[in-house]
Amino acid sequence: MKENSVFAKIYEYICKDTGRKNESSKLIVVLRLLILSMAAYSLLNCFLIACIRDVRALAFAIFSLVLFILSFVCSYYWSSFASYCILNIYILTWTIANVLCFGWNIGVQHFLTTLLVFCFFSKYRYEKAKFIYTGCLLVLRLYLYYYCQSHTPVFTLTPSLGNYLQIVNTFFVFLTLALTAYIFSADSQELEGKLIEYNRQLMKQANTDTLTGLYNRRSTIEYLDDLLNNPENQISICLCDIDFFKHVNDTYGHDVGDVVLKKISETFRKELPQDSFISRWGGEEFLLIFPKLNGDEAVIALEKLRQKIKAIVFDGVIETFTVSLTYGLVEYDYHSDLTTILKEADEKLYLGKESGRDRIIF
Ligand code: GH3
Ligand code: MG
Ligand code: MG
Repeated sequence: MKENSVFAKIYEYICKDTGRKNESSKLIVVLRLLILSMAAYSLLNCFLIACIRDVRALAFAIFSLVLFILSFVCSYYWSSFASYCILNIYILTWTIANVLCFGWNIGVQHFLTTLLVFCFFSKYRYEKAKFIYTGCLLVLRLYLYYYCQSHTPVFTLTPSLGNYLQIVNTFFVFLTLALTAYIFSADSQELEGKLIEYNRQLMKQANTDTLTGLYNRRSTIEYLDDLLNNPENQISICLCDIDFFKHVNDTYGHDVGDVVLKKISETFRKELPQDSFISRWGGEEFLLIFPKLNGDEAVIALEKLRQKIKAIVFDGVIETFTVSLTYGLVEYDYHSDLTTILKEADEKLYLGKESGRDRIIF
């Protein structure tokens, strides 16, 4: 919508002064839109009723229109709750008066349904009052129905005018119902969307490490438990650790150390097979799980990775430097438990460190 278009201006005017403390701005917007729809409806009625040249009927229609316009203006001065109550009372009496004046056949009684929906969507928490109000509306509607069976309307409409009014009423009842339901339900849909996104983020935070974005230890144990209980292929597991990382921190600073951790994690993601499960097991230790590789295949993948990591040149401000990792690899034998496998991987990693680092021990 263009900033200066007439619709934008009207919408802006409808939303004006809705920010009062402790008040639902959505309610007041719906109220105003509802009043405007009813005013438009009354205006149309004035033209239609003018056709039967009954001055009293026309005066009644004009009076309704004026009251709706007044309600609209008052919504800028009263609180939402006062406007809400007054509009309810007004539409209620207006519906009764219309049914008595023009009869049951023009369908004006359906506006009672709009009131019902409006009442339930409003955020006021008077649940008991809402059900009592529903009961009252039901009784009123039944009473009006039986009353119209034995009484003739005050104004006599021609059959074609009766039909027109029936169409106009149906249209406006649908319009006001759709308007109320749309605006209020958009609110809860938006809220639901936000909750789903919030839950997704919470899940992500609970399962990943914030610095590297890799899976954390908790989610890795969960994944491994599941994988080892239902092995479909040969599985290889590798525990690896950055060599002399303390020296990196001590020489170039902790921030540079963090950059190294991030870059290495990124390289894991880029270089290892797509279905690898990559996790930060602890400080500068990573657990790499290959759910579809046997030990020999994993060695090939790790060797490629080892060389890629060694080739990265880091900027340590005072000088550039490179890092390496040592890898302890085990192939799952289909019967060991998780603790035994991890212990075996750790022993191999230790062996790799002892025998000079920067190597894969399988
Ligand atoms: P080795 O080759 O035997 O593994 O030697 P190392 O220096 O890597 O091993 P050590 O366990 O002595 O040091 C690990 C260091 O990793 C110590 C710790 O400060 C650092 N570290 C752990 N987590 C982080 C982190 O999140 N960021 C940074 N910058 N350093 C970390
Ligand atoms: Mg280390
Ligand atoms: Mg370590």
